[in-house]
Amino acid sequence: VFQLSFPLNFLGTIYREMRQSLMDMEVLFNLQTQHTPVADKPDAKALQLKDGTIRFENVNFGYHPDRPIFRNLSFTVPGGKKVAIVGPSGCGKSTVIRLLYRFYTPSSGHIYIDDQDIYECQLNSVREKIGVVPQDTPLFHSDVMHNIRYGRLDASDEEVIEVAKKANVHGTVASMPEGYKTTVGERGLMISGGEKQRLAVARVLLKDPPILFFDEATSALDSQTETELMRNINNTLLSKSRTSIFIAHRLRTVVEADLIIVLKDGQVVEQGTHDALLRRGGLYHDMWLEQASDAMMGEEDSSEPPSTPQELV
Ligand code: ATP
Repeated sequence: VFQLSFPLNFLGTIYREMRQSLMDMEVLFNLQTQHTPVADKPDAKALQLKDGTIRFENVNFGYHPDRPIFRNLSFTVPGGKKVAIVGPSGCGKSTVIRLLYRFYTPSSGHIYIDDQDIYECQLNSVREKIGVVPQDTPLFHSDVMHNIRYGRLDASDEEVIEVAKKANVHGTVASMPEGYKTTVGERGLMISGGEKQRLAVARVLLKDPPILFFDEATSALDSQTETELMRNINNTLLSKSRTSIFIAHRLRTVVEADLIIVLKDGQVVEQGTHDALLRRGGLYHDMWLEQASDAMMGEEDSSEPPSTPQELV
């Protein structure tokens, strides 16, 4: 039995290792190359960044030709400002980020960064300017050190630890069985959604990009974790002037944005600051009231339910 099981076990180990490397490749592939339908044009130039102004101009896009998501979508994200994109579920908020990261190509229209059409630029030169904190951070089956270092591969151990401290995840890592050498990801140590997002923040801090996209998790973190995460992001990623786009599901996380863009049915229906949009009494105002009443009904995890929408401010 031993003679037979030993090679089988061994083969099993090799199989698992191979499967794992394939999964890691898959994560990388998903992150970097999937959905990239066109290679760089022969005359593509490197994107020259100035203040990081992003502009959508008459963008049309649908995942399927018969189901348009954006119809002549146009808006501007001013350079260095913090802009939130909100709107009903499924209106295309995350799709805005996917187009900007060039996972997909619009069927018509243009997307510009500093007046350069990003589809005319070298893909890598666009992506290297952008940091993404996605809804669900993909972790590699590797140690924590490597998972953070993915933000900038030539970073030293000390630099990794420094950003982990800033992202408020150092304490968590220190309490793991092998500290920064602890394996996470598939079959590794399980970590919570909040911890994963803090690792993502550390990763992006290491990259230190001039443009930042943050896709808020749909699944509600508990309100304390969410408040800590937002404070953490404000103190780290946003303490430096960079163009940032927040995809938000919970409106209380966007109150302080420089500009809020409200999407519906593939178009911008209104935009402005939180106060201006509340005064306007349109879709944002209605969504705000709805979320406030959900919070009062206890549907949101809120330890102190507000009695009026204003109390959420
Ligand atoms: P939520 O608030 O629920 O996160 P969202 O506003 O971010 O939604 P998107 O994720 O951008 O919406 O999706 C917009 C629409 O496109 C949705 O109807 C969604 O079902 C559809 N969609 C998203 N990804 C794909 C895909 N890969 N293939 C086909 N349809 C997709």
